[in-house]
Order: sequence, then C-alpha cells, then structure tokens
Amino acid sequence: MTKKHIETTLVNAGRDTRYTQGSVNSVIQRASSLVFKSVAAKKHATANRANGELFYGRRGTLTHFSLQEAMCELEGGAGCALFPCGAAAVANTILAFVQQGDRVLMTNTAYEPSQDFCTKILAKMGVSTDWFDPLIGEEIAGMVSADTRVVFLESPGSITMEVHDVPAIVRAVRSKAPDAIIIIDNTWSAGVLFKALEHGVDISIQAGTKYLVGHSDAMIGTAVANARCWDQLRENAYLMGQMVDADTAYVTSRGLRTLAVRLRQHEESSIAIAQWLAQQPQVARVNHPALPQNSGHEFYKRDFTGSSGLFSFVLNKRLNDDELAHFLDNFTLFTMAYSWGGFESLILANQPEELAAIRPQGQLNFSGTLVRLHVGLENVEDLLADLAAGLARIA
Ligand SMILES: *Cc1c(COP(=O)(O)O)cnc(C)c1O
Repeated sequence: MTKKHIETTLVNAGRDTRYTQGSVNSVIQRASSLVFKSVAAKKHATANRANGELFYGRRGTLTHFSLQEAMCELEGGAGCALFPCGAAAVANTILAFVQQGDRVLMTNTAYEPSQDFCTKILAKMGVSTDWFDPLIGEEIAGMVSADTRVVFLESPGSITMEVHDVPAIVRAVRSKAPDAIIIIDNTWSAGVLFKALEHGVDISIQAGTKYLVGHSDAMIGTAVANARCWDQLRENAYLMGQMVDADTAYVTSRGLRTLAVRLRQHEESSIAIAQWLAQQPQVARVNHPALPQNSGHEFYKRDFTGSSGLFSFVLNKRLNDDELAHFLDNFTLFTMAYSWGGFESLILANQPEELAAIRPQGQLNFSGTLVRLHVGLENVEDLLADLAAGLARIA
C-alpha cells in the first residue's frame, strides 16, 4: 500500500482488533492486577512484559498499548513512554540519559519548567546546563564537548516562537558527540506538523495535555523514541514509576482522531489573526512562525508542514499594571489561563523583564508588553472583533 496521508493515519492508528475488541475505539481497560491463566502464561507475560504483553498495570493495559502504538506511528518511533503530564515527560526523559558530571545543552527559549528542572534538580545531581540561542544552528558545534550528554531543543521557542534549524543542529552535534541524545519538545507541532525523528532527533516529547487531548480536560505527556534510545527511556521511566491512568490514555487516543482537522482550523484562524495584528499600529511585531518576519521563518517553511494556533505579538509600549488589567480583564472570548491546545481561545501577557528573566545567557530585542494568544476553534470574525475591542481599550 502507498504511504498513507496523516489524516488517515490519525484516524486508524492504534485501532488493532486486539485493542478494540469489536468496537470502533480501544477498550478502556482499568487495571492494576492482570490475571494469568496458568504458570506458563505468567512466565510468558513476564518474559515479554516490556513488549506488549499484559503483565501489571504499571507496565500498561490494552488502552495504553493502543495509544503507544498510535504515537509511534504518528511520530515514526520505536516506542512511546507515557507520563502523567508534559513536565514529567521532559524531566524523566532527560533523567534517563544523564549521570553525574554530564552536561546538558538546552535552548534558552525552552518552556520555563524545563529550564527549572535543569537548574533546580539536575544541578543538585552534579549535572550542569549550558544555554544556547534558538537560532544558533550549526554553531552549536562550538558548545558541544565530550561530556555533553543531552541536547534539548524546543521549536518554536516558548512564548517568543523562534524556529530552530534542527537539521543543522543535529549535524553539528553528531559530528562532535555522536553519543549525545538529542531531545525536542515538539508540543507546538503536535507531532503532526514537524517530523522530529525524520530530521534526526532521537526523542520527541509532547505535552499531550495540549493538542493531543485537545479539550483542556486531561493531562498527559508522551515521549516517542527511536530504536537507539527506546530501551533506556522505557526502563528508566518505568523505574521512576511514570504512568498515566487508562481513562486519560483513552481520551488522548480519542483526541488523535480529530487532531488533523482541528489543527487545520487552528492554523487558518491563527494566521488570519496574526496577519491582521501585523497591520495594527499598536503592534510592534508578530511572532508567528508562518509570518516572514518571524525568527527562523525560513526553517519553518522548509521543515514544517503547517502551523498550529499558538503565537505571540509585542505591543509598541510596555503597558503599566492598570492598562494591562483593563486590556486583559475585558475580553469576551479570549480567556486568561495557562496551557493551550484546547478548542478555546486563550490570552496571557508577559512584561519584557519577565521574559528576560527566563532567557538565560540570552538577550531580548524588544521593550513592549508581549501578548500570547492561543487561537481556538471559535469563528475567526468573532475573535478579530474581540481583539479589535481590546486594542481600542489601550489606544
Ligand atoms: C504545557 C507545556 C509543557 C508541560 O506540560 P504539562 O502537561 O502542563 O506538564 C511542556 N512543554 C510545553 C511546550 C508546554 O506548552
């Protein structure tokens, strides 16, 4: 059969009859204990407990296996570890590969809790972290040494949306430290819009909390690894007791079925809104990977197949506390909340000094208030009207 398109893969992945047992969706198998019919069956399950035999709840049930298989098909991996949230996926994936004396290289635009894991937890264990500019490209070679164990990417960058030249970074790292593990936080692309493993990355992490679940009602983390990293990731995650319940695994699989069509709408609406914002006199710049003015747009164009709904823009001026409250408190459709990737539109603001504090060894090239939007599935005209009213409040 010819290679399937992504929409078809998302509808069918993980729906083997072993998991669906006569229904359309996978069964929800809630279990700690799994019953062995005989001594021989127990022996067989024990020997195969790491590769798809029912053994004990912590190793997964049919519901988990279905999701893991689907994620491997989506992201092209040898295995997928499941975690209770995205932060657990980031922490435990790094932890699986480092030991005392190792160095981690992390983009200084990584999600703040990922940075904090390095500075607050890894540092205590004698693992040091150095930070690189998201646009470093092949020049990362100059930072790689024999003790570099993990290189951690996130593209686009958290809040400011810079897109890495991933192939150049991968080439440079491999040439200097062939054994280093290259990990990416691939949440923005949902594993759909950027094929991290095809670009040479070892492990693609997602906060499945965002687009995979897609409805802001569950938390999960996923880490899809290539063959070289899978055994070590799986056993370390297992020993750390990393797991997710069957119900959450189920709603994540259900999210996959509509992921492609949801992303298409997030993309269409977010680009329309980004283009509109770019024309507003109060807006200094728009950080949307699909817009030519975005840092690393050329790599986005080359390596991504589309956009999702999260981006940011910078106002000409820094709003004071009262102006910011007046601006943010009065939107009718954009609500204020952390997270993103659900069906609903969200808005958050960062002052430049707050952003500078989470850009270690980096520089911020703007001085106005930054506004981050997640563009949801509402009608785009309604969203534009809400934003126009917001900008009028600070005119
Ligand atoms: C939300 C998020 C995480 C953390 O995921 P949780 O499920 O909230 O723990 C990690 N990385 C990125 C890019 C995120 O947006």
